[in-house]
Amino acid sequence: MVPSAAPGRWDGTEVMPYKEEGSAPFRDVTRQKLFAGGGDLDVELRYFEVGPGGYSTLERHQHAHLVVVTRGSGTVVVGSEVRTLGLHDLVHVPPLTWHQFLASPQEPLGFLCLVKVERDRPERPSAEQLAEIQSNPVVGAVVRV
Ligand code: MN
Repeated sequence: MVPSAAPGRWDGTEVMPYKEEGSAPFRDVTRQKLFAGGGDLDVELRYFEVGPGGYSTLERHQHAHLVVVTRGSGTVVVGSEVRTLGLHDLVHVPPLTWHQFLASPQEPLGFLCLVKVERDRPERPSAEQLAEIQSNPVVGAVVRV
């Protein structure tokens, strides 16, 4: 058991950078690994917290995500859809679907994210793919790169 230390924090799990700074475009995101897989459960459970006004990298990959919002509010882009996110909302990101999580300007967005242990590396959009993504006016108004 990993006890919760505070809202969005757990004992015995280091608060890590989301990704290496400069490796991909993102702003103000931390990561905690809560479960690393094993014991017949080949999944990782991570907690991500995006600070107010921050955002995760716009990316896609073969592996899927299952996300549950546990803190704050924000917006998610999944493929051609843009959804407002609040507490306990559930988001499924299917394989090879462009996605980005953005915190609201006023408060953080914290969420639990389930992934397979064995998974491919995220892909970022090429210039052509980004133009295609941004050609959807609903998505284009929200995504940050
Ligand atoms: Mn992802």
